[in-house]
Amino acid sequence: MRQTQLFTRTLKELPKDETSYNAQALLRAGFIDKVAAGVYSFLPLGLRVLNKIREIIREEMFSVEGQEISMPAFAPKENWESTGRWESLDILFKIAASDKKEYALNPTHEEVVTPLAKKFIYSYRELPFAVFQIQTKFRNEKRAKAGLLRGREFLMKDLYSFHLDQAGLDAYYDRVSDAYTRIFDRVGLGEKTYFTFASGGSFSKYSHEYQTLTESGEDIIYICDKCRLAINKEIIAEQNTCPTCGSSELREEKAVEVGNIFKLGTKYSDAFALGYSDASGAKKPVVMGCFGIGLSRIMGTVVESSHDERGIIWPEYIAPFRVHLLSLNVNEKADEIYKNLTEAGVEVLYDDRDVSAGEKFADADLIGCPYRVLISKKTLEAESAEVKKREETTAELIKINELTAYVQ
Ligand code: ATP
Ligand code: MG
Repeated sequence: MRQTQLFTRTLKELPKDETSYNAQALLRAGFIDKVAAGVYSFLPLGLRVLNKIREIIREEMFSVEGQEISMPAFAPKENWESTGRWESLDILFKIAASDKKEYALNPTHEEVVTPLAKKFIYSYRELPFAVFQIQTKFRNEKRAKAGLLRGREFLMKDLYSFHLDQAGLDAYYDRVSDAYTRIFDRVGLGEKTYFTFASGGSFSKYSHEYQTLTESGEDIIYICDKCRLAINKEIIAEQNTCPTCGSSELREEKAVEVGNIFKLGTKYSDAFALGYSDASGAKKPVVMGCFGIGLSRIMGTVVESSHDERGIIWPEYIAPFRVHLLSLNVNEKADEIYKNLTEAGVEVLYDDRDVSAGEKFADADLIGCPYRVLISKKTLEAESAEVKKREETTAELIKINELTAYVQ
């Protein structure tokens, strides 16, 4: 992508009411635009990152036999009344439509997926299965001040699984939990993310959250370094030692919840009378699991946890582009290098603008692609490009004919 043609550019001025680091950096670097508190547009750079996170998550959901579907953004009041959540969920956005009926903008989809499954499950032969979607959620959050960490509109992957019995759910739960570990590794958050015991389990004592360490997190977790897991502060009164080794040597940290997995059991099957007949013809309730992960929150969390004073440092697999190619008044040769890299399948943002070297350097650091490749008269005299990794301070001269192999 040529930067002269890229829709949006880096900004000097920021909306005054934006206090979170992730939103400030993403706005300044031209990844997102702010429409209202907790409501953002994703611009070309931002959507590229979000789509990379989306592809990683989709692949991992396919690896646990999740089948992709897409459910609507709003659902009738009756669905939400069936579970009592029309009244009890304080974050529910309610809308009135021209048919004089009321609807909710879905903050999650148990109230849609359970009646959907009911249309297709008759006997044990249909079970087990799992469906997922990557879809926009709406929550009337009171504290929408943390940028992408707490949107009022945000992107979530939600997987729902349907089983014959608890043993089926338990085995599947462990497989999805492993897939989540792979997702957080692949998006670059693996080292800072902890499998965390939390409240909210309806079938089991706990639910499990994936909590990423960051000063901007709103949760407090207690870490057992020996077992590499954590306990959310909200359950520390009933579980104040490591659930695995029993150690009471726990370390307190601030963190943000990036994923949450639940054994729902029959909570929603009971509400919607979702059952099946077993081999002997006896009626049984379907046992359910639900597995959420926040894509836009992951993007905000990466920015919070991976930056320096000059800008964002994207982990390699979710960077908007792999290479930021800067041409210092040598566009003819840089055009050729851009073409060669692109043809070799390398994703390149090419700064072909007629601006100062200082501005190009500053923008490259702000945008944060993994490799900065500089072409100038001086580097060309040595038949080379100057390559610097975003997180490093020193650059290297690499021969032009070795460049593609070097950055690939
Ligand atoms: P929190 O406690 O932070 O409000 P939650 O427990 O209500 O989150 P879940 O219902 O478990 O959230 O949703 C599943 C996932 O969706 C969360 O783990 C998180 O990654 C993401 N998520 C939830 N709320 C938001 C939000 N307002 N903005 C962005 N992502 C969110
Ligand atoms: Mg949660």
